[in-house]
Amino acid sequence: RQAQYRRLRHLPAASRDGIEVTLSMNAGMLADMDHLKESGAAGVGLFRTEVLFMVAPSLPRMHAQEQLYRKINEMAGGLPVTYRSLDIGGDKILPYLRNVDEENPAMGWRAIRLGLDRPGLLRTQIRALLIAAGGRELKLMFPMVTTVAEFNAARTLVDRERKFLHQHGYTLPEATKLGVMLETPSLLFELEELLAVADFVSVGTNDLYQFSMAADRSNMRVSGRFDILSQSFVRMLKHIADKCDAANVPVTVCGDVASRPLEALCLVGLGYTHLSMPPAAIGPVKAAIRATDFGRLRARLWPRLEAGRGNDDIRHILSRFVDAN
Ligand code: PEP
Ligand code: MG
Repeated sequence: RQAQYRRLRHLPAASRDGIEVTLSMNAGMLADMDHLKESGAAGVGLFRTEVLFMVAPSLPRMHAQEQLYRKINEMAGGLPVTYRSLDIGGDKILPYLRNVDEENPAMGWRAIRLGLDRPGLLRTQIRALLIAAGGRELKLMFPMVTTVAEFNAARTLVDRERKFLHQHGYTLPEATKLGVMLETPSLLFELEELLAVADFVSVGTNDLYQFSMAADRSNMRVSGRFDILSQSFVRMLKHIADKCDAANVPVTVCGDVASRPLEALCLVGLGYTHLSMPPAAIGPVKAAIRATDFGRLRARLWPRLEAGRGNDDIRHILSRFVDAN
């Protein structure tokens, strides 16, 4: 199997009927970047910057951060890296930074909320990312955005930093693309407004699922209670894919759902053509995509998503389709 996946490394993730899917990898540490080449990933679709902060003994200062991001960009060679600003809080704790007791940390003071309330922290990170990306493209997205206003506030911080650096003679990135992690259900009801201002979006299904199903992702009693391929969630994912397509805004799925072959087939069936996953998942997902005719898969899947047609669950329909292939 491993050898088979290695042979696929240089082949495209193209389906039998010619749909080309971009497979990127998720990363969080410098060491992860070593997997870029061997996995055949098209780039880093999600760089979880808080992981760098979690393993540091104290809060890294601007210069130290800049060095880290520079190193990551170098290790990426010419391949694109999508950075996510600090997603602290919830299941991601920085022992030296905050010690607030919260009853519901996942729904608490975390991620972009913390960043906007402590702009010094977020601005330092933005500045370091901008300097490190001087002369190349910077792709940066914000986690746990709940309203379009939060994204606009974050973008204002980026604009200010760009202005400051320009005035001080720094080389700015040749382009700065700002995106949003789609992981709170509220944002789905502001999607058109969001797509008018965001350069790209990335669906964080781990959190989107947890908040949609009201099922704590870290509580084993409930985290697997509902199938991620349940009707409501798959319809939600289709709605996002359709809206992004209509608005012509690039969309990636970077949650764990993209790393499992059957689920990945479902995502491509829904219209997603960019998935990001742990490097080890790229081979199996690519093999599954290459073996699939999505015209035929959609003919099975889409009617099922329309109201009231068919009783079989979506996972069952997909696995039957794959087995018959
Ligand atoms: C997600 O929520 O799906 C996601 C990719 O982010 P994280 O798992 O880091 O919360
Ligand atoms: Mg998340």
